[in-house]
Amino acid sequence: MIDSKERIARALAISTDTKVFEMGQDASALAPEVFTKCFPGRKAVIVADINTWPVLGERVAADFKAAGIPTDTYIIDKKEFHADWKYVEMTDLIVKGDYTAAKAVENDENHQEGDAEKAFSQSSDGYNVLVSVGSGVINDLCKLSSYHHGQSYLTLPTAASVDGYSSFGASITYQGSKQTFTCPAPVAIVADIDVIAHAPKHMTAAGYADLAAKVPAGAEWIIADFVGSEPIQDDAWHVLQDYLDGFLSDPEGVAAGEPRAIADLFEGLTLSGFAMQAAKSSRPASCCDHLFSHILDMVGHRFEGKLQSHGFQVAIGTLTMCAVFDELFKLDLTVLDVDSLVDSWPSLEQEQDRALEVFRDFPAPNLGYIQISQKYGDKAAVRAELSRLKAEWPTLKERLQGQVYSFEKMQKLFRIAGAPYETGHIGVSRAQIRDMFPKVQLLRARYNLLDLAMRGGFYDALVEPVFARGGAWEI
Ligand SMILES: [Zn+2]
Repeated sequence: MIDSKERIARALAISTDTKVFEMGQDASALAPEVFTKCFPGRKAVIVADINTWPVLGERVAADFKAAGIPTDTYIIDKKEFHADWKYVEMTDLIVKGDYTAAKAVENDENHQEGDAEKAFSQSSDGYNVLVSVGSGVINDLCKLSSYHHGQSYLTLPTAASVDGYSSFGASITYQGSKQTFTCPAPVAIVADIDVIAHAPKHMTAAGYADLAAKVPAGAEWIIADFVGSEPIQDDAWHVLQDYLDGFLSDPEGVAAGEPRAIADLFEGLTLSGFAMQAAKSSRPASCCDHLFSHILDMVGHRFEGKLQSHGFQVAIGTLTMCAVFDELFKLDLTVLDVDSLVDSWPSLEQEQDRALEVFRDFPAPNLGYIQISQKYGDKAAVRAELSRLKAEWPTLKERLQGQVYSFEKMQKLFRIAGAPYETGHIGVSRAQIRDMFPKVQLLRARYNLLDLAMRGGFYDALVEPVFARGGAWEI
């Protein structure tokens, strides 16, 4: 295996937004130099919260000032806050240097959200450059606000909790629903492993699960590639998938916060973001494994009063998909009756009606209708897919088996890493997971394993055994 330096150099060569990625123990000392290189002559504003200010922000601010960089600081006075649109407006004001107005927005409990379309300003050297010191939420706020002002930013992550530091797009709740706003990844990432290794353990475990999701997500990309829906893009695939097993191989070290294991985990998450930059899509990083989590986000799921982290929800989606793949491998798809499957394949209108029914009581009732309208395949397309599947199943199966982990293996890794390994750990029942399947199939236009199963008439054979006697999530 090539070493970390070489992997990162190759990854930077294909990333479209990120130009600098420094990682190591005490790497934060490099931040002033990186800032000056990326933003010569600009003024910095360190954005932290009351958790991340003492662990890193304060030190970074002092280093910037010592290096002669004009530097302001803005500390969000909240122990816990979510990526709501209000805070994007706050961060927009921080870029403009109006800290009083930013504080007023931050503390306004009845804030009226502005129009997201009107958040953009002409770029100007007079704006502050954001230096994000924090985990996923602060990073996403800084990512989107920087984009609003036609500039980039520097991020100093404080936890290996998500792959969002290096991905394009920011996940923000706007008008009551969680949305991904398109915006470029940061130009520079400085990852101080000493700091990241000391993050709360549940955050690191969440990051481990988010990285592990790339195992079944990769398998579903293989399927999408196989049916010709989304071809595998070589650079976006190899940058992470070639090393993924290695990055996941030390859950004990991850749980212990051992710097070497944390560095591997953080690197894996960062390479995942680079893969998304190269593919200009989240395909390399997520498929059904993430959709269970998106559904929980959209219904505002809470457990013991608290929203569950992205990684924790993704852990359960990932395990569920590993269980589904276990069932897939038990099927013999060389015996598919293609003619009769094509004959009984529903029309687009029938599928749209089904989608409306599935999403009838959902906060976004038209979502499935919109997605199926984009990914519906007609009889000719279904015939082509199934004929190929029938003919090439043994080879495809072998390839998928080489990619995906068994439920048992993944569950063991999560148990050791400290990630959720039972649905109850995030406050959902197995029956709730089972009932989410029809929505998961229809939640995105992206082709997934469940789409293939619908076409091939083996959807029930795939899903039901997971919840039946002896199944992974036996009810
Ligand atoms: Zn994720």
